Amino acid sequence: MVADCIFCKIASGKMGTPLVYQDDMVAAFRDINPQAPVHILVVPKRHIEKLNDLEKEETLTAGLLRVCILLARQEGLADDGYRLVANCGAKAGQSVFHVHVHLLGGRPMQWPPG
Ligand code: AMP
Repeated sequence: MVADCIFCKIASGKMGTPLVYQDDMVAAFRDINPQAPVHILVVPKRHIEKLNDLEKEETLTAGLLRVCILLARQEGLADDGYRLVANCGAKAGQSVFHVHVHLLGGRPMQWPPG
């Protein structure tokens, strides 16, 4: 755990933010500034800065994706459609440097993203 990392604190339960999912490796919680009716962040419990750092983390990477799929179903998005986003680096829009996958759904989406 990195002391000044907000997602480390949330994933460990220290912030009191409700977790919509957790297991040994992965936690998920609702985005504080939702960009869609459903906007959940799926994160590793261990501090990992960027998507690049998951290259050798096969089990964890699969776990993150599996939790996104599971939550999409639980949120009623499986048939409606949903989007997963992982911004890697500031230029791509990453603002919190603890790797996370956005699960977005509940509204029509445009392509390409901005
Ligand atoms: P990104 O820009 O891809 O790094 O995404 C970071 C996301 O974290 C943004 O969508 C923020 O709204 C969200 N966020 C930042 N702080 C919090 C927080 N304390 N609780 C929940 N979501 C947060």
